[in-house]
Amino acid sequence: MSIWSDIQDRSVGDTVRKEDNNWCGLCFDVKDSVDLTGPEKVSIKGAAWASFKFGGSSSLDKMLSTLRVKLVISPDTPKRNVPDSISEWVLYWENEVERLKSDLGSDCENNPAYQDAKTEYEKAQKEKKAWAAMALLGCYDRFCKEIRLFPNNIPKQNRKEYLVTTFVHEAMHAYFDRHPHELFPYVGTVEETFAEFGMLLFLKETNNNYYKWAYDNVVSKETCYRYGAVLMDRYEKGDAQIRQDLESYKRKLF
Ligand SMILES: [Zn+2]
Repeated sequence: MSIWSDIQDRSVGDTVRKEDNNWCGLCFDVKDSVDLTGPEKVSIKGAAWASFKFGGSSSLDKMLSTLRVKLVISPDTPKRNVPDSISEWVLYWENEVERLKSDLGSDCENNPAYQDAKTEYEKAQKEKKAWAAMALLGCYDRFCKEIRLFPNNIPKQNRKEYLVTTFVHEAMHAYFDRHPHELFPYVGTVEETFAEFGMLLFLKETNNNYYKWAYDNVVSKETCYRYGAVLMDRYEKGDAQIRQDLESYKRKLF
């Protein structure tokens, strides 16, 4: 019996076997007040168990078990914090605009350097706004070593797609985890792009039906997350180095 039919058999009702709460080592903790359907659980488990050679592991389940990362399905509805690096980017250009304004005086509007700075400032503001507007569907807590999914923040439509893609995205963050090596900080624009690329790569290599939906979803994002699809495009065109870069992003830091 294949692992898929095994999962299918158990998808009919709620948890029917004790080990369903402890899959091959990865602890799957669905909080009591969370309303997660059987098929939704099956989708997440299917992704965890799918054969995927990555970072020395043969599946996400194996990888997360080795890393001792727990998966928690939480009823919380937290809001997203805009990363410091994005806020600092806005502040930098805000200061530049002010500096040039005071240096150039009333003629600043016709100065190319001022015009450039203003364009960059507007770009940074737009990115910050887009970050703040993105719903927080999940997160990886490096201190608790927990992936948390927030179904109550997930749109009603395409719930399974969101649950699976968020789980895989957060699994990438768990893989990248450099705690307690905080000298190597989290750089949102790099890591979120890599996490999205890793998620798309996973769906592609495991022949997951959600690949096209996920790819289109990444492309439609207004933040740096969308560059994950650009990396995927390059990978698809034969640039195998990108996959190596993704896997060694963690190891190079240690
Ligand atoms: Zn992320």
